[in-house]
Amino acid sequence: MFTHSRVKIAIIGAGPVGSLCACFMAENGYDVTVYESRTDIRLDKSTSGRSINLALSERGINALRFIGLDNIVIEELTEPMYGRMIHSIDGHKYSIMYDINKSKCLYSISRKELNEFLLTKLEKYPNVKLNFSHKLVDVDFNTKLLTFQKSLENQQETVKPDVIIGCDGAHSVVRKHMIRQPMFNFSQTYIDHGYFEISLPSAATKDTLTPGHLHIWPRSTFMLIALPNKDKSWTCTLFMPMDQFPLILESENEEILRFFNEYFKDFMDLIQPEHLLNQVTNGKARTLISIKCNPYHINDDFLLMGDAAHAIVPFYGQGMNAGFEDCTIFNQLLEEYDHDLKTVIKTFSLRRIEDAEAISDLAFYNYIEMRDLVARKSFLWRKKLDNI
Ligand code: FAD
Repeated sequence: MFTHSRVKIAIIGAGPVGSLCACFMAENGYDVTVYESRTDIRLDKSTSGRSINLALSERGINALRFIGLDNIVIEELTEPMYGRMIHSIDGHKYSIMYDINKSKCLYSISRKELNEFLLTKLEKYPNVKLNFSHKLVDVDFNTKLLTFQKSLENQQETVKPDVIIGCDGAHSVVRKHMIRQPMFNFSQTYIDHGYFEISLPSAATKDTLTPGHLHIWPRSTFMLIALPNKDKSWTCTLFMPMDQFPLILESENEEILRFFNEYFKDFMDLIQPEHLLNQVTNGKARTLISIKCNPYHINDDFLLMGDAAHAIVPFYGQGMNAGFEDCTIFNQLLEEYDHDLKTVIKTFSLRRIEDAEAISDLAFYNYIEMRDLVARKSFLWRKKLDNI
């Protein structure tokens, strides 16, 4: 076997999972090169972006612990959420705590800030090379040749690493090539519902939403949620059937405000109508996709992790957390099999797929709970009984 420093690992995608995976491999002494299609997000000061806030949970924190970033990330980048605050249509609201002793909570974090933090950590490793503006365009599983389009020079580059880990997200190019390989199973489902992000700035709030909570306005077939930011602003997301969005968001201003006032009155008390209308005019509803595949590897040198392997709907707040847990499990296997990478790669699929699919199914179920069941009397009674 090679010594670790001679083994060339290529990681495709420097999103949260690719960046963390690269840190794990660097800690283990491998020769790591990361290829990212976008430019360096740390240089992009625009605030526009998708899924601005995420709930970071124990799975994710556990993975950050391995690279010594758990405490600093929690302290510097997150806001705790100890429970859900449910807003009824009549303006009544009540809190459902995640943990009665408040010893455990979820942490609201900006995906971009977390990603930036991981990239900064990553570039400190002497055994890591970060290549931005390198878009993977072709994969040859027999020769292990990878071809990248370099957007800055408008040239192509071909490399031949020993091991390739595809962390290139839900629309993964690595996985797109795997689909043509025998015995590789794949399914994707666009759910009927999509999402639209609305920011509730801190300046706009005389009163504000109760801190320490994930706020939910469940309205049966749709819902609004709000996650806190460190600067006291809130990132809110409206989830509803994709075919309903145009009826609301593309209507006259009066009609848009009527909808929000009817269903989210106490939210409207906190936001300037012009600010809301401006976001509706310039924003866009986005789709939600769920992806499953089996196995996660081809041969014993190509592997998928994160959304590339298992994109899940966001209602359980576990997509990135599950991707981070992939890194933890891969690392456990490296120890268990004494860095025999070929065995580790094959065993990863066996060890991971069942649990990743379970999280995916739970995430579907939790949407029904969040937008509907959570507001029903039977659910509240059960919660009361649980807490006795
Ligand atoms: P991505 O974040 O998609 O990163 C992939 C990277 O690969 C990108 O940087 C991309 O530019 C790059 N790339 C793509 N193609 C190529 C290529 N050909 N060559 C090179 N690079 C490439 N998760 C949670 O844990 N908690 C939550 O509360 C939560 N809430 C969410 C809310 C919403 C509305 C949505 C949509 C998602 C949410 N998620 C949540 C899921 C979370 O955003 C994803 O699971 C997470 O971003 C996956 O990280 P990733 O690194 O695997 O993929």
